[in-house]
Amino acid sequence: MAEDIGSLKGISAEVRQLVRADAQRRREAKNILSPKGLQGNYDAGELLHTTLGGEIRPLTSDDLAAFRQNARSLGRRFKGGITPRQVIDMSLAVDRKKARQEITVAVPASARTVRGAGRSADSLEVRFVTNASKKHGTYRHFVTVQFLGYPTAIASGALTPAKAASQMRKEGIRFDCDCGRHTYWYRYIATVGNYNAGRAENGYPKIRNPNLAGVACKHVLRVMAEVEGSSVVQNFLERAIAKGRERMDGTSTIRTSDKAASKIIQKQALRPTTHGGRTGDRDYDRARRALRQQSRATTTRPTKVASGSKRVSALAGDPKAEAALMGVVQQLGISREQAIAILQGVK
Ligand SMILES: [Zn+2]
Repeated sequence: MAEDIGSLKGISAEVRQLVRADAQRRREAKNILSPKGLQGNYDAGELLHTTLGGEIRPLTSDDLAAFRQNARSLGRRFKGGITPRQVIDMSLAVDRKKARQEITVAVPASARTVRGAGRSADSLEVRFVTNASKKHGTYRHFVTVQFLGYPTAIASGALTPAKAASQMRKEGIRFDCDCGRHTYWYRYIATVGNYNAGRAENGYPKIRNPNLAGVACKHVLRVMAEVEGSSVVQNFLERAIAKGRERMDGTSTIRTSDKAASKIIQKQALRPTTHGGRTGDRDYDRARRALRQQSRATTTRPTKVASGSKRVSALAGDPKAEAALMGVVQQLGISREQAIAILQGVK
């Protein structure tokens, strides 16, 4: 049966309400590791904790050094922005699997032009509505994607709206999702990477994601797969570009009707969620292949395991090597003792 994502009427008001509630919760949140705290200037009175290494424990100054290093490599990694393809490539396998199995519907519901300095068009903001896994008491989520190639797409008459849209789908984006995974695991990464389309988050995810692994929740991943491969998104962006070109100032506001949305949902519901087999829907097969790609997930951990002598110094308590060791321990799901036993065997 098709997933029910409800009516698309009034979603702007609903999103505004969610944004307000999120901001309110964040204002009242305690035990946040601020950028100042990350530099080591945090009030000793506020005892912070981390799960770096696998178990919850009080935060040490070595942890702060490891976090600063993580944040620095993160900044470097996202210097050139991020594209839909890269979002999928850099995501964790666990998120991609959930995107394939649980999130079967993603509808582009509305679009508006975001204005930058001097009131010129900065990007096209598209709001997608996805179904929810229903494990967390909500039946839908809102994913916001800002297409940064929009000003070029409307200014350049050299390309047809179809060609311009197809190019824009491959260019830089910013994004946001209202779910908990994005809020507590990934929004900090998006903020440091400068591709967040929602509230900035400067508090280091010391409990949920101390290694800063992954980039996107299952809702964002489903949307990125649709952006990459679906003719529905292609047609939607074409309409927005055509409309933006008609107006001198690039304003483009479009909406998907509930009737049109229900057709899209029916089509998406026919896709099998199980492994293997082609659906005959070329767009979807392509998008699904993208979600199934071998994991190219990156973390801020070094990709190479430290060499023999470094492994030994990890055991001697070098904080950087120790942090790397604990990262490996966490990734492999083994105990610290097991890791040490393995490392002692290879020195
Ligand atoms: Zn999400």
